[in-house]
Amino acid sequence: MECPVCGSENEFEYIKPGAYIEKERDTDFCPKKLSWSNPLYQTINPLVNFMATCHQCFYTHEFNKDYQEWKKNKEFKRILPEIKSRHLKKLNQKNGLIKKMGDAIFSSEDPFSKALIKFFLGIYDEILSPQRAFLNLARYYLRIGWLFREKEEKEYSFWINPSVVNPGRQLLERKLSWVKSLHTKYSQKLTELAKMANQLYADKPDETKKDNFISIVEKMQSSLQPLKSSLDQLLSFSSVDKKISYEREAFSEGFFKDFDSEQLHSHLKKRWSKIPQNEKEALLFALRYYQKAYAQVRDQNQKIRISYLMGELSRRIGDLDGASKYFEQAINMSQKEIEHNEKDFTKIALAQKILQLAYQQKEKISIQR
Ligand SMILES: [Zn+2]
Repeated sequence: MECPVCGSENEFEYIKPGAYIEKERDTDFCPKKLSWSNPLYQTINPLVNFMATCHQCFYTHEFNKDYQEWKKNKEFKRILPEIKSRHLKKLNQKNGLIKKMGDAIFSSEDPFSKALIKFFLGIYDEILSPQRAFLNLARYYLRIGWLFREKEEKEYSFWINPSVVNPGRQLLERKLSWVKSLHTKYSQKLTELAKMANQLYADKPDETKKDNFISIVEKMQSSLQPLKSSLDQLLSFSSVDKKISYEREAFSEGFFKDFDSEQLHSHLKKRWSKIPQNEKEALLFALRYYQKAYAQVRDQNQKIRISYLMGELSRRIGDLDGASKYFEQAINMSQKEIEHNEKDFTKIALAQKILQLAYQQKEKISIQR
């Protein structure tokens, strides 16, 4: 994809629609229990590819269909010159944040830090944009909250496993072991054949037959020998590969000390007040932007959804009075919407769902108090 800001060609990883199914959603709509059609990807978090960062100028944007086809988007092209000049001006600042964060993404091996910093850059560029959308900022901060949550819940399990981070390599290793097991089986079958021939042609008149048969089998077995050593060579190759990658990780800890994720994180925090340090802070930022977005948004369904989310985020950060107020707002709005469009099931599907959720979460507050 061509970067709209600097014109560089970028290759972004893209998750095909339908590559996974969400089996469950958290009460703030965070997808839970993903089921991937390719089991190798089971532990990958799609949020890693939510933002796309240009490797050259670090311009970052939500990687959605609209952005992939930005050349067809007249409105985007209209504001593009302004986006360009603002982004490049910040990029060229000495010790600027864009440069610092961009370098960190491309020198880090840790998928969690990479994903997090891509979100920060996406937020930075959204704030710079002449058409900044509060709803987008809210959505980005909410997702940062989800990243922090997942990191806590999964105890790093998937973030630091290099073979999972690189499913291609895992697949290669599996196939190789499979070929090796075929070789072993093949060789065993040949031995069995020789044994059978030994018994079948044990009688005197067939002795030459037996010898011939066995000598052919032996030939075949000896031809398997070089194949075996080649396979062993390939297998040792992949274990060397593994060793290198572990060493590189250990190395990067020392070498990229400047970019150590926590250090970078607090460094950024000092220079930019909009950096959250944990899930709660991220949700608080999301809440603030949803409050601003609520006034910007026109669609009634979206307003209902935002009201509910403001309730749920308030509840999660411990503002129970605020939560109660927003849940009530969501309940009232949903009820009105359902009354208004009584017969139009597609229009009220969301209102019905939110109504149910808002009641359920409001109930939780009374227990929390
Ligand atoms: Zn670029």
